[in-house]
Amino acid sequence: MPPVVIAGSGRLSRMTPEEFRTAGHRLIDWIADYRLSMEQRPVRPSIDPGQVKAAMASEPGEPSVDVEPLLAFMDSVVVPGSTMVQHPMHYGWFPSNAGLASVLGDIASSGLGSLGISWESGPALTEVEEVVTDWLRKLVGLSDRWSSTIHDTASTSCLVALILARERASGNSYADRGLAGLDEAPVVYCTDHSHSSVRKAALLAGYGSDNVRIVAHDRRDFSMDVADLRAAIEADAADGRRPAAVVATIGTTGTTAVDPLAEIVAVAAEDGLWVHVDAAMAGSVMILPDHRHLWAGVEDADSITWNPHKWLGTILDTSIFHIRNTEFLIQVMSTNPSYLQSGADGTVTQYRDWGIPLGRRFRALKILFHLSIDGVGALQARLRRDLDNARWLAEQIEAAPDWQVVAPVVLQTVCVVHHPRGADSAGADDDLDVLNRHTLAWVEAINRSGEAYLTPTMLDGRWVARVSIGVETTEREHVARLWGLMKNAVSAS
Ligand SMILES: *Cc1c(COP(=O)(O)O)cnc(C)c1O
Repeated sequence: MPPVVIAGSGRLSRMTPEEFRTAGHRLIDWIADYRLSMEQRPVRPSIDPGQVKAAMASEPGEPSVDVEPLLAFMDSVVVPGSTMVQHPMHYGWFPSNAGLASVLGDIASSGLGSLGISWESGPALTEVEEVVTDWLRKLVGLSDRWSSTIHDTASTSCLVALILARERASGNSYADRGLAGLDEAPVVYCTDHSHSSVRKAALLAGYGSDNVRIVAHDRRDFSMDVADLRAAIEADAADGRRPAAVVATIGTTGTTAVDPLAEIVAVAAEDGLWVHVDAAMAGSVMILPDHRHLWAGVEDADSITWNPHKWLGTILDTSIFHIRNTEFLIQVMSTNPSYLQSGADGTVTQYRDWGIPLGRRFRALKILFHLSIDGVGALQARLRRDLDNARWLAEQIEAAPDWQVVAPVVLQTVCVVHHPRGADSAGADDDLDVLNRHTLAWVEAINRSGEAYLTPTMLDGRWVARVSIGVETTEREHVARLWGLMKNAVSAS
């Protein structure tokens, strides 16, 4: 399409670098002001489905180089339509930090506009990624037998891992008849507390729902029951199936439960199963050496994923994938059409052969800026603060009558119920319906107030409130304020 000429102005609509400079400064100011005013805003917008769409025109307006109308739109429609996950009173889902240092790296990446389809198309894009992901490998205490890359999300990492597991278990079935050519269906093992992305990855990788085996878990700490894993593997093998992969979670989404990885890798090794470690949320804590016991055994896994874009604070989408056998990874993932071949092949890393997409952004700059500006010491101190805050909150809850912490507080998540008819009703006579309605009601009352936000979760058949601590700006005073809100909410509902 030819460039659009704005009537009367005679100016090409394409923004020039000088116009970008002016508008860009305004935008940076807007972002800084937005972050500064965050705490004064409600955490969750009170907004109806369709309200944002209704506030927008059906066609783009007259083009203009003036960003003020766009910033006004941000203020009047986008901000009031956004859940403030960077708000210090946000305790929902998991920390989804977007540290400003990493935001700068994101802007640098966009400004550069690099294209990562091969080493040639972006030598720096490739090599900076190799170096900074290796920094992260060392930061979480992994040995140099691991190689690393950035995927968009942990969901993608899990899909890649389960495709690799499928191919290893099936002797490269993709090279001829695919799964249709197999007599023995490959099977994936995980627990009910694994993230939904595990099941999704297994289905997308072609295993089929019948071949996703839910292993039993410990009733008290929600970790995988390894005896049941072993029994399930034996039963499947006896049944003519091919046990292919186990996904171990270090820090489940519901309660941050930790599957016993050392035992899992030992069981998996007996039958050559692929072990994928999903540490999407909790991987960040491994920058604290005294927490690495939580994934003892990790060196004998096959692949690991963790998200700096969660607790560590690098903005989305920055999910790290560590892999031991890159040769096998490349064999399964590579495609090499002639226009992508080059003389550098064999001496350089071609990240297109490490995952699903061909084109990649220069995501490593987000990590480079984040680590270079904030520094590891500050990140470690922030994580320790969050761990302390979670322990503190758990202590307050344990000491309060009628309140109960219902899962071990391993990291920064506290799962809690309040018994409306007193602590005695916590026994077998507890009316589950009454308790569930009460929990959902007081959580919703807090969320509706806009003063804080938490997400309830279903834990082995009962609703519990989940307080996930870890937003960059959440200090002790905020957690104390939340505890006050919780006590008020239960007496009101
Ligand atoms: C958040 C989370 C995921 C999914 O992460 P995405 O990067 O959004 O795909 C998977 N597993 C666990 C344990 C998580 O906490």
